[in-house]
Amino acid sequence: MHVNPRATPGGTPALEVSNLSVRYGKAISALADVSLRVDAGEVVTLMGLNGAGKSTIVRAVTGLLPVNGGSITAGTITSYGTALTGRSPRYIVRHGVAQTMEGRRIFAGLTVQQNLEVGGATRRPADVRALQAEVLDLFPRLAKRRGQLAGLLSGGEQQMLAFGRALMSSPRLLVLDEPTLGLSPKLVTAIGDAISAIRERGTSVLLIEQNAVMALSVADRGYLIEHGRIFREGTAIELRDDPELERRLLGLAEEAA
Ligand code: ATP
Repeated sequence: MHVNPRATPGGTPALEVSNLSVRYGKAISALADVSLRVDAGEVVTLMGLNGAGKSTIVRAVTGLLPVNGGSITAGTITSYGTALTGRSPRYIVRHGVAQTMEGRRIFAGLTVQQNLEVGGATRRPADVRALQAEVLDLFPRLAKRRGQLAGLLSGGEQQMLAFGRALMSSPRLLVLDEPTLGLSPKLVTAIGDAISAIRERGTSVLLIEQNAVMALSVADRGYLIEHGRIFREGTAIELRDDPELERRLLGLAEEAA
Protein backbone atom coordinates (compact mmCIF):
# COMPACT_ATOMS: atom_id res chain seq x y z
CA MET A 1 0.00 0.00 0.00
CA HIS A 2 1.12 3.56 -0.76
CA VAL A 3 2.05 5.17 2.58
CA ASN A 4 3.52 8.65 2.81
CA PRO A 5 6.48 8.42 5.22
CA ARG A 6 6.40 12.20 5.78
CA ALA A 7 2.79 12.31 6.96
CA THR A 8 2.47 12.48 10.73
CA PRO A 9 -0.98 11.23 11.72
CA GLY A 10 -1.63 11.94 15.37
CA GLY A 11 0.68 15.03 15.38
CA THR A 12 -0.54 18.62 15.15
CA PRO A 13 -2.38 18.80 11.81
CA ALA A 14 -1.34 21.21 9.07
CA LEU A 15 -5.06 21.99 8.78
CA GLU A 16 -8.04 21.03 10.88
CA VAL A 17 -11.50 22.19 9.88
CA SER A 18 -14.07 21.23 12.54
CA ASN A 19 -17.85 21.39 12.18
CA LEU A 20 -17.67 24.38 9.85
CA SER A 21 -20.85 26.04 8.61
CA VAL A 22 -20.83 28.97 6.17
CA ARG A 23 -23.53 31.24 4.77
CA TYR A 24 -23.60 33.78 1.97
CA GLY A 25 -25.96 36.53 3.08
CA LYS A 26 -28.94 35.30 5.09
CA ALA A 27 -30.46 32.89 2.62
CA ILE A 28 -27.68 30.70 1.21
CA SER A 29 -26.20 27.93 3.34
CA ALA A 30 -23.03 26.87 1.48
CA LEU A 31 -21.39 24.57 4.07
CA ALA A 32 -23.04 22.58 6.86
CA ASP A 33 -21.01 20.92 9.62
CA VAL A 34 -17.93 20.24 7.48
CA SER A 35 -14.93 18.58 9.12
CA LEU A 36 -11.68 17.68 7.39
CA ARG A 37 -8.02 17.33 8.24
CA VAL A 38 -4.64 17.55 6.49
CA ASP A 39 -1.87 15.99 8.56
CA ALA A 40 1.61 17.50 8.37
CA GLY A 41 3.29 16.27 5.19
CA GLU A 42 0.09 14.96 3.61
CA VAL A 43 -1.56 15.68 0.28
CA VAL A 44 -5.33 15.60 0.82
CA THR A 45 -7.83 16.12 -1.96
CA LEU A 46 -11.29 17.63 -1.72
CA MET A 47 -13.44 16.60 -4.66
CA GLY A 48 -16.94 17.58 -5.68
CA LEU A 49 -19.16 18.79 -8.49
CA ASN A 50 -19.74 22.44 -9.41
CA GLY A 51 -21.43 24.31 -6.58
CA ALA A 52 -20.69 21.62 -3.96
CA GLY A 53 -18.81 24.04 -1.69
CA LYS A 54 -15.14 23.48 -2.55
CA SER A 55 -14.22 27.13 -3.15
CA THR A 56 -16.15 28.12 -0.03
CA ILE A 57 -13.88 25.90 2.06
CA VAL A 58 -10.83 27.46 0.38
CA ARG A 59 -12.14 30.96 1.11
CA ALA A 60 -12.84 30.07 4.74
CA VAL A 61 -9.34 28.66 5.19
CA THR A 62 -7.57 31.59 3.48
CA GLY A 63 -9.65 34.35 5.07
CA LEU A 64 -11.31 35.47 1.82
CA LEU A 65 -14.92 34.72 2.79
CA PRO A 66 -15.84 38.29 3.80
CA VAL A 67 -14.80 39.75 0.42
CA ASN A 68 -17.10 37.22 -1.21
CA GLY A 69 -20.04 38.12 1.06
CA GLY A 70 -19.74 34.95 3.13
CA SER A 71 -19.44 34.36 6.86
CA ILE A 72 -18.64 31.50 9.20
CA THR A 73 -21.66 30.74 11.38
CA ALA A 74 -20.23 27.77 13.29
CA GLY A 75 -17.06 25.72 13.65
CA THR A 76 -13.31 26.30 13.81
CA ILE A 77 -10.25 26.24 11.54
CA THR A 78 -6.77 25.64 12.94
CA SER A 79 -3.37 25.23 11.29
CA TYR A 80 -0.44 23.77 13.23
CA GLY A 81 -2.36 24.47 16.42
CA THR A 82 -3.12 28.14 15.69
CA ALA A 83 -6.73 29.29 15.28
CA LEU A 84 -7.32 30.79 11.83
CA THR A 85 -11.10 31.12 12.14
CA GLY A 86 -12.12 34.60 10.99
CA ARG A 87 -8.51 35.86 10.74
CA SER A 88 -7.39 38.17 7.90
CA PRO A 89 -5.78 36.82 4.71
CA ARG A 90 -2.58 38.64 5.69
CA TYR A 91 -2.45 36.90 9.07
CA ILE A 92 -3.13 33.53 7.45
CA VAL A 93 -0.39 33.95 4.80
CA ARG A 94 2.06 34.94 7.53
CA HIS A 95 1.10 31.80 9.40
CA GLY A 96 2.33 29.78 6.39
CA VAL A 97 -0.83 29.09 4.38
CA ALA A 98 -0.71 29.94 0.66
CA GLN A 99 -3.16 29.30 -2.12
CA THR A 100 -3.43 29.31 -5.88
CA MET A 101 -6.74 30.56 -7.13
CA GLU A 102 -9.09 28.79 -9.50
CA GLY A 103 -8.61 30.31 -12.98
CA ARG A 104 -4.88 31.04 -12.64
CA ARG A 105 -4.85 34.61 -11.36
CA ILE A 106 -1.45 35.87 -12.38
CA PHE A 107 -0.43 39.46 -13.18
CA ALA A 108 -0.55 39.46 -16.99
CA GLY A 109 1.35 42.76 -17.34
CA LEU A 110 4.29 41.62 -15.21
CA THR A 111 7.07 39.25 -16.26
CA VAL A 112 7.38 35.72 -14.92
CA GLN A 113 10.17 36.86 -12.61
CA GLN A 114 8.18 39.87 -11.34
CA ASN A 115 5.18 37.63 -10.62
CA LEU A 116 7.41 35.40 -8.52
CA GLU A 117 8.84 38.41 -6.69
CA VAL A 118 5.30 39.55 -5.82
CA GLY A 119 4.68 36.07 -4.38
CA GLY A 120 7.73 36.48 -2.15
CA ALA A 121 6.75 39.96 -0.92
CA THR A 122 6.57 38.83 2.69
CA ARG A 123 10.06 37.27 2.58
CA ARG A 124 13.52 38.84 2.97
CA PRO A 125 15.33 39.66 -0.33
CA ALA A 126 17.96 36.95 0.19
CA ASP A 127 15.19 34.39 0.79
CA VAL A 128 13.37 35.57 -2.34
CA ARG A 129 16.41 34.79 -4.50
CA ALA A 130 16.79 31.32 -2.99
CA LEU A 131 13.06 30.57 -3.26
CA GLN A 132 12.98 31.77 -6.85
CA ALA A 133 15.84 29.43 -7.73
CA GLU A 134 13.90 26.56 -6.13
CA VAL A 135 10.70 27.38 -8.01
CA LEU A 136 12.51 27.70 -11.35
CA ASP A 137 14.21 24.39 -10.66
CA LEU A 138 10.77 22.82 -10.09
CA PHE A 139 9.32 24.40 -13.27
CA PRO A 140 12.05 24.54 -15.96
CA ARG A 141 9.51 25.87 -18.49
CA LEU A 142 9.23 29.01 -16.37
CA ALA A 143 13.01 29.33 -16.09
CA LYS A 144 13.28 29.61 -19.88
CA ARG A 145 10.60 32.32 -19.90
CA ARG A 146 11.52 34.35 -16.82
CA GLY A 147 11.72 37.65 -18.75
CA GLN A 148 8.46 37.07 -20.67
CA LEU A 149 5.20 38.84 -19.85
CA ALA A 150 2.99 36.42 -17.94
CA GLY A 151 -0.04 37.26 -20.10
CA LEU A 152 1.78 35.75 -23.10
CA LEU A 153 2.35 32.37 -21.44
CA SER A 154 0.28 29.35 -22.45
CA GLY A 155 -2.54 28.28 -20.13
CA GLY A 156 -0.46 25.50 -18.62
CA GLU A 157 2.52 27.79 -18.09
CA GLN A 158 0.26 30.35 -16.38
CA GLN A 159 -0.98 27.60 -14.07
CA MET A 160 2.62 26.70 -13.23
CA LEU A 161 3.37 30.37 -12.56
CA ALA A 162 0.38 30.64 -10.22
CA PHE A 163 1.65 27.56 -8.46
CA GLY A 164 5.22 28.90 -8.32
CA ARG A 165 4.04 32.24 -7.00
CA ALA A 166 2.24 30.54 -4.12
CA LEU A 167 5.42 28.59 -3.32
CA MET A 168 7.38 31.86 -3.09
CA SER A 169 5.87 32.53 0.34
CA SER A 170 7.47 29.24 1.46
CA PRO A 171 4.17 27.88 2.79
CA ARG A 172 3.77 25.08 5.30
CA LEU A 173 0.33 24.40 3.81
CA LEU A 174 -0.46 24.98 0.14
CA VAL A 175 -4.10 25.17 -0.95
CA LEU A 176 -4.50 24.43 -4.67
CA ASP A 177 -7.87 25.37 -6.13
CA GLU A 178 -8.48 23.31 -9.29
CA PRO A 179 -4.92 23.56 -10.64
CA THR A 180 -5.67 21.36 -13.67
CA LEU A 181 -8.75 23.23 -14.87
CA GLY A 182 -8.70 23.39 -18.67
CA LEU A 183 -5.27 21.79 -19.07
CA SER A 184 -4.24 19.13 -21.60
CA PRO A 185 -3.56 15.60 -20.26
CA LYS A 186 0.20 16.19 -20.58
CA LEU A 187 0.06 19.33 -18.45
CA VAL A 188 -2.23 17.64 -15.94
CA THR A 189 0.55 15.08 -15.48
CA ALA A 190 3.12 17.89 -15.05
CA ILE A 191 0.99 19.51 -12.33
CA GLY A 192 0.64 16.13 -10.60
CA ASP A 193 4.42 15.69 -10.68
CA ALA A 194 4.90 19.19 -9.22
CA ILE A 195 2.51 18.38 -6.35
CA SER A 196 4.45 15.21 -5.58
CA ALA A 197 7.73 17.18 -5.65
CA ILE A 198 6.30 19.76 -3.26
CA ARG A 199 5.25 17.06 -0.85
CA GLU A 200 8.76 15.64 -0.97
CA ARG A 201 9.95 19.04 0.29
CA GLY A 202 7.70 18.67 3.33
CA THR A 203 4.88 21.06 2.34
CA SER A 204 1.36 19.83 3.14
CA VAL A 205 -1.22 20.25 0.38
CA LEU A 206 -5.00 20.61 0.25
CA LEU A 207 -5.87 19.90 -3.38
CA ILE A 208 -9.29 20.97 -4.63
CA GLU A 209 -10.12 19.00 -7.77
CA GLN A 210 -12.88 17.80 -10.05
CA ASN A 211 -10.39 15.55 -11.83
CA ALA A 212 -10.58 12.58 -9.45
CA VAL A 213 -8.17 10.43 -11.45
CA MET A 214 -5.42 13.00 -11.14
CA ALA A 215 -6.28 13.94 -7.56
CA LEU A 216 -6.30 10.36 -6.29
CA SER A 217 -3.04 9.56 -8.09
CA VAL A 218 -1.13 12.14 -5.98
CA ALA A 219 -3.17 12.34 -2.76
CA ASP A 220 -2.76 10.32 0.43
CA ARG A 221 -6.40 10.76 1.42
CA GLY A 222 -9.50 12.43 0.05
CA TYR A 223 -12.94 13.81 0.82
CA LEU A 224 -16.00 14.07 -1.39
CA ILE A 225 -18.24 17.07 -0.78
CA GLU A 226 -21.85 17.28 -1.98
CA HIS A 227 -24.31 20.11 -1.35
CA GLY A 228 -22.07 21.62 1.32
CA ARG A 229 -21.61 18.42 3.33
CA ILE A 230 -18.79 15.86 3.42
CA PHE A 231 -20.33 12.80 1.87
CA ARG A 232 -17.42 10.36 1.84
CA GLU A 233 -13.80 10.22 3.07
CA GLY A 234 -11.03 7.67 2.86
CA THR A 235 -7.52 6.87 1.74
CA ALA A 236 -6.76 7.49 -1.94
CA ILE A 237 -6.69 3.72 -2.48
CA GLU A 238 -10.13 3.23 -0.90
CA LEU A 239 -11.60 6.07 -2.95
CA ARG A 240 -9.99 4.91 -6.21
CA ASP A 241 -11.66 1.52 -5.75
CA ASP A 242 -15.09 3.02 -4.99
CA PRO A 243 -17.42 2.84 -8.03
CA GLU A 244 -19.99 5.03 -6.24
CA LEU A 245 -17.47 7.88 -6.07
CA GLU A 246 -17.08 7.91 -9.85
CA ARG A 247 -20.86 7.96 -10.33
CA ARG A 248 -21.18 10.87 -7.91
CA LEU A 249 -18.33 12.87 -9.44
CA LEU A 250 -19.87 12.49 -12.88
CA GLY A 251 -23.20 13.66 -11.47
CA LEU A 252 -24.84 10.33 -12.38
CA ALA A 253 -26.08 9.67 -8.86
CA GLU A 254 -27.95 13.01 -8.90
CA GLU A 255 -29.57 12.24 -12.24
CA ALA A 256 -30.85 8.91 -10.90
CA ALA A 257 -32.26 10.49 -7.70
P1 ATP B 1 -17.21 25.20 -8.57
O1 ATP B 1 -16.54 23.88 -8.79
O2 ATP B 1 -18.27 25.48 -9.59
O3 ATP B 1 -16.25 26.33 -8.37
P2 ATP B 1 -17.62 24.90 -5.71
O4 ATP B 1 -17.70 23.48 -5.28
O5 ATP B 1 -16.34 25.61 -5.52
O6 ATP B 1 -18.09 25.05 -7.22
P3 ATP B 1 -18.77 27.07 -4.20
O7 ATP B 1 -18.29 28.13 -5.14
O8 ATP B 1 -18.11 26.93 -2.90
O9 ATP B 1 -18.80 25.66 -4.94
O10 ATP B 1 -20.33 27.31 -3.99
C1 ATP B 1 -21.10 26.65 -2.99
C2 ATP B 1 -22.50 27.26 -2.98
O11 ATP B 1 -22.43 28.63 -2.51
C3 ATP B 1 -23.16 27.31 -4.33
O12 ATP B 1 -24.55 27.06 -4.15
C4 ATP B 1 -22.94 28.73 -4.80
O13 ATP B 1 -23.97 29.17 -5.66
C5 ATP B 1 -22.95 29.50 -3.50
N1 ATP B 1 -22.05 30.68 -3.58
C6 ATP B 1 -20.72 30.66 -3.82
N2 ATP B 1 -20.19 31.92 -3.78
C7 ATP B 1 -21.22 32.74 -3.50
C8 ATP B 1 -21.33 34.15 -3.30
N3 ATP B 1 -20.25 34.96 -3.37
N4 ATP B 1 -22.56 34.65 -3.02
C9 ATP B 1 -23.63 33.83 -2.92
N5 ATP B 1 -23.59 32.50 -3.08
C10 ATP B 1 -22.41 31.95 -3.37
